[in-house]
Amino acid sequence: MLARPHQGQGRRLPPPSLLRTLPTYSAVVTLAAAIVFIGVAGTGERVPLDDWQYLLFVALIVAGELLPVDVPRGGGRDRVTVSSAFAFAVLLLFGTLPAMVACALASLAADVPARLSPAKVAFNAAQYALAVAAAGAALKWTGQDLPVESLGTALVASLAGAGVFFVVNHLLVSPAAALLTGTSLWRQVSSGLPFKVATAGVVLTLAPVIVACALTSVWLVPLCLLPVLAVYVGARQTVRDLHRAMYDGLTELPNRVLLREHIERALEDASDSGHRAALMVLDLNDFKAVNDTMGYAYGDRLLQAVSARLASALDPGDVLARLGADEFAVLSAPVHDGRYARALAERLGDAMCESFELEEIVLDVRASIGVALYPDDATTADMLLRKADVALHSAKDSQQPVELYAVAQDHYTVDRLLLAAQLRRGLENGEIVVEYQPKYPLRGGRPTGVEALARWQHPELGRIGPDGFIPLAEQSGLINRLTDVVMGEALGQVAEWRRQGVDLRVGVNLSPRTLLDANLPQRIAATLAAAGIEAGCLQLEITESRSVPSGPVADAVIERLRVLGVGLAIDDFGTGFSSLVQLQRLPVDEIKIDRSFVANMDRNTSDATIVRSTIELAHNLGLTVTAEGVETESARRQLAEMGCELAQGYGLCRPVSAEGCAEAVRRFAPAQATPGQ
Ligand code: C2E
Ligand code: CA
Ligand code: CA
Repeated sequence: MLARPHQGQGRRLPPPSLLRTLPTYSAVVTLAAAIVFIGVAGTGERVPLDDWQYLLFVALIVAGELLPVDVPRGGGRDRVTVSSAFAFAVLLLFGTLPAMVACALASLAADVPARLSPAKVAFNAAQYALAVAAAGAALKWTGQDLPVESLGTALVASLAGAGVFFVVNHLLVSPAAALLTGTSLWRQVSSGLPFKVATAGVVLTLAPVIVACALTSVWLVPLCLLPVLAVYVGARQTVRDLHRAMYDGLTELPNRVLLREHIERALEDASDSGHRAALMVLDLNDFKAVNDTMGYAYGDRLLQAVSARLASALDPGDVLARLGADEFAVLSAPVHDGRYARALAERLGDAMCESFELEEIVLDVRASIGVALYPDDATTADMLLRKADVALHSAKDSQQPVELYAVAQDHYTVDRLLLAAQLRRGLENGEIVVEYQPKYPLRGGRPTGVEALARWQHPELGRIGPDGFIPLAEQSGLINRLTDVVMGEALGQVAEWRRQGVDLRVGVNLSPRTLLDANLPQRIAATLAAAGIEAGCLQLEITESRSVPSGPVADAVIERLRVLGVGLAIDDFGTGFSSLVQLQRLPVDEIKIDRSFVANMDRNTSDATIVRSTIELAHNLGLTVTAEGVETESARRQLAEMGCELAQGYGLCRPVSAEGCAEAVRRFAPAQATPGQ
């Protein structure tokens, strides 16, 4: 386990001198408010604490403070309250000193129960009182006497006062926010200004309406609360909708949209301060297998547990987001350098090392993490996301838990994108060719079956083996098309061989995810019909090295294939983690023992035991067995002794062209022994 880099070791926090000035600034503002208060009190104004109308207004300001609406904006939140409408109305109706006291009381009522520090409580109350005092001064300066007698003459002056109220409030708060976050004062003053002006404008222009009501009858004032409540309820709903659009419903983490805003903000801050920012994209390995075997509800719970585990490994200020399915992201800023970012990523990986225990099932979950740095790797949010994604894929490919972005990886992904486009065209242009590898009966006699193996004859790169393009086809949505092409070619070839007097059954490989293609059985039936071949002459090989999808679609496809009468073989048997589950689930008639067991059979007794037991198991279930990768005569003989029916391998025949295959089969008279004897 890596030592947790302690705060400040790699992060650059605002210099200590700045931090020290925040309480100082707060003290200065509080003192200023006290001086203004004494000055205003000196003019003879008094606070009508015995006037129930005044107390009603104080209560309304407090109510407004206690019902704030938090509007998510730019990765942060803006708090909007309607209390200032009533505060400003108090200024117009009762004068400066009563308004200052009302504002300070309302601020205290909201902050004290929220357990803010005394400095913050004092600052908030002082800043609110100063803003309303400044507005009062502005009104007096325009010649407007307070309290106002009628609204008619006071309207223009009160709008000017509202402007001053907003400006002073904003100018007092911005330095505190800048000191608190370590960002520039200008950033704080200018950030989101149109939004702030708009909301303050709407709230403050409500004040004259409240005053008009109060001057008519004070009983109308509570009615002003109704539109305020409507605004409040509407705003709360909007905030809820916004929340839904910005947060992931399952984990309550920010989603991709909100993460982008966080990144944009972090990059602005980093560019202001000359710091680095790190973006980590994390993807769980084999999460699909969890969904497939345990069901989606279980998968969801695991994702919640994973998000909680990740959250616990973060530093304060880091942002954790869920990008999709099993993909998470962590934004960390400021960071010192790549080494620090790697240490943080490794810490996230380590956090996953401890097993997850859910519903009494213990699961080991591993993650791959790609890291990209601002400004080293990218200077925009989108590019940073993309580069972290490239690093993630590189981590997956190299099976490393963490990879930092490197330009070399990018070429790789660009190549892959290019190659995917070329494969799409290649599929149309007949660049996919099929080779055939015969399966030899171990009892002797001529091969009765072959396996179709796809190759890509690339115009510039030459012949590419399936390992070089099947994963690409799977990732780029071309796999169903590829299956169709190979299927059409293979079945057409079976018909052609039949015309030449060679009868062969053909095995075609299916990627597990092809079973999610609901139209597959229908297309296979059509291809069989077009070639004039019976379904029994086709065998589908489904690898079990990757999980076979479950669920209603896959089940229906499997059932329709069974009804159609095509054979089904489990390929690479023994390499998956659920061999026996697959046997139970799929209506198979054959298993193909993976070549990794066969290859070492004559040297490794446990491999030989696995092969022998697998053959016995298959026979007990009434299944045929093919051994793959038979390279030596001794392996062939051993398999024959174990009762294995069929063998396939370089020692018997390599994958060859259709003509080569017919040739290899014809070499056998019907009763002739297998080669190597
Ligand atoms: P597979 O289904 O296990 O196919 C057998 C692979 O083993 C073939 O590799 C074959 O050339 C190789 N092989 C056969 N005998 C021996 C031997 O004695 N020793 C060794 N070392 N290897 C032997 P290939 O052609 O490279 O195919 C690799 C994999 O690509 C296949 O493994 C199959 O899973 C996949 N594949 C091939 N064609 C298709 C296709 O049309 N669709 C899909 N989805 N996958 C395909
Ligand atoms: Ca196969
Ligand atoms: Ca195989």
